[in-house]
Amino acid sequence: MRLRNISGSREVIAQSPFVIHEPYQYKGNWKEVFGNDHPVRIEIGMGKGRFLMDLAKKNPKINYVGIEKYSSVLLRGIQKMASDPMPNLYFIRMEAEEITDVFGRGEIDRIYLNFSDPWPKDRHAKRRLPSREFLARYHEILKKDGVIEFKTDNHDLFQFALEELEPAGWHLEQMTEDLHHNAQMMEGNVMTEYEERFSAMGNPIYKYVIAR
Ligand code: SAH
Repeated sequence: MRLRNISGSREVIAQSPFVIHEPYQYKGNWKEVFGNDHPVRIEIGMGKGRFLMDLAKKNPKINYVGIEKYSSVLLRGIQKMASDPMPNLYFIRMEAEEITDVFGRGEIDRIYLNFSDPWPKDRHAKRRLPSREFLARYHEILKKDGVIEFKTDNHDLFQFALEELEPAGWHLEQMTEDLHHNAQMMEGNVMTEYEERFSAMGNPIYKYVIAR
């Protein structure tokens, strides 16, 4: 997702109380950020953040961190939070590649990847968020029995994600090629902004839940 570069978004982010500005200093100490030891779940590539805001509201005893690389997109999340602040949700503006510098070993309870960028060129496969390179990073920060939940409407990206599992040491817990017609996996489903847009166009939504 790339919005027009909104002038001043970096300045607004720099002053926002909803953003963790020096996330590297909290590696291994995210409890301090939230002031409790509730589980911490993250969405990587959160876009405007509505998915996490809905989850944070539904589950006050779970902590959430949203990661987004573009300031102009993150700004939208900050603006929404300002009208409805929640103590169990923070944002970080960063590149997902650095995730192991920000979270300690086993510190994360669950990882959400929603409608990740497809990076269709072969030579960019490493940049895809469900690639084996990223799975190795998630392995470090995710607790032993933690899971990754991935949703997309992109068939090729989903096929790629399925092929990456085994070599990286993960296995499928749940999988569907049509989430919105799978009653069991739809239970408690929280729609993301992209999910709403693409399912309204008639695209099936793919989803997996994986563990080690
Ligand atoms: N999860 C949202 C947005 C999906 S678009 C939804 O489902 O509605 C994908 C988002 O991921 C974009 O906002 C993009 O900027 C962000 N993103 C992609 N690669 C990233 C990376 N390496 N690090 C951080 N954010 C990333």
